[in-house]
Amino acid sequence: MDKLVSLAKRRGFIFPGSEIYGGLAGMWDWGPVGSLLKKNYKDLWWKEMVQLRDDIVGMDAAIMMNTRAWEASGHTAAFTDPLIECKICHERFRPDKPDEVTTHEATHKGKKVEWTEPQKFNLLVKAYLGIIEGKQSEIFLRGEITNGVHVNFKNVVDSTRVKIPFGIAQIGKAFRNEITPGNFIFRSREFEQLEVQFYIKPDEAEGKKWFEYWKENRMEWFLKLGMKKENLRFRDHADDERAHYARLATDIEYNAPWGWQEMMGIHHRGDWDLSRHQQFSGKTMTFRDPHTNEEYLPWDIETSSGLERPLLFLLLDAYHEEDGRTFLKLHPKLAPYKAAVFPLLANKEQLVEKAREIYNGLKEDFMVAWDDRGNIGKRYASQDEIGTPYCITVDFQSLEDGMVTVRDRDTAQQERINMIDIKEFLTRKINY
Ligand SMILES: [Zn+2]
Repeated sequence: MDKLVSLAKRRGFIFPGSEIYGGLAGMWDWGPVGSLLKKNYKDLWWKEMVQLRDDIVGMDAAIMMNTRAWEASGHTAAFTDPLIECKICHERFRPDKPDEVTTHEATHKGKKVEWTEPQKFNLLVKAYLGIIEGKQSEIFLRGEITNGVHVNFKNVVDSTRVKIPFGIAQIGKAFRNEITPGNFIFRSREFEQLEVQFYIKPDEAEGKKWFEYWKENRMEWFLKLGMKKENLRFRDHADDERAHYARLATDIEYNAPWGWQEMMGIHHRGDWDLSRHQQFSGKTMTFRDPHTNEEYLPWDIETSSGLERPLLFLLLDAYHEEDGRTFLKLHPKLAPYKAAVFPLLANKEQLVEKAREIYNGLKEDFMVAWDDRGNIGKRYASQDEIGTPYCITVDFQSLEDGMVTVRDRDTAQQERINMIDIKEFLTRKINY
């Protein structure tokens, strides 16, 4: 983990938020390379969920919502963690994390530390909208992106051709006043979520069927992206730990350096959300089947994950040290750059010109990097560390026979390929 955090900063993946001002806890800024990785992940997810499926549509709801929506979903009342507070310095901690409590007590160097009883603390981040401060202009930044989908259920049904069962996919930022952000980007106060709310007929067998379907579907997704099977597992929630509205709930967990951790959730939410919004808004949320005229409040199977957690775990799985090399074995589809192009020598005009020609030709179809600094070894090393699958070098021989050296990130093997075949080569290798 320490090596990854250092690489992430050194190579432009992730910087601590507001670093020059001493930072802001739980905030991270994604750099030139990291923002590409993020975008690739989101694009792949969107393609799989929205573009390739006939039963899911996308949407993009506002971050700020009418406060009634949060009352309806129960967030203003129940979206809390019980916390205990140190009576010396008033820092708050989760009582179910005894390690953190002990570590904190040690910072008071032998003084007897007393703690308050566990108290609830709202995780929603407050903001003020409008020019007058006060209760009336008080709103919340969304603590999860789900609500923006449910409140638009009728709008989506009425404006599209969707029929139950169907899903609504969304990607967006959410904010939580986490008391103890930590483990790098694992627990942040600002993060992104990717969710599908999948609406089905209110029927026990349908509910079980789709719940199982989405469990397998999401596990398959992480495996396809190259996550190691032995680092993934399902963890079904016991009856007493499920949220009160959840009929069934499973996490997909990852075997992190600090133990098995939740990466995503699959939840059978029944009609909890739609019924609450119906009740609080006074607007009907039912679906009428166009063939049978049957009218009902649909059930919802939700698949929900953050963006930062899967990316952290994909990076951890991708991190390799072999034969003195450090490289990120990212799936080529996720890799920030698909290839890098080098002229063997930066001061030989003919080499630079030919390499530029290749680089410009690839740019239209792929995110490609250019590097003419230092020697080839250093250029390979820097591309390895950002996970670029192929490096293409133009040398003097290339000027005569049109062949270039293509070097593979994972094996460090080199082969000579005709420059007119490069585009086809990359297309084939990246879309496997
Ligand atoms: Zn203290």
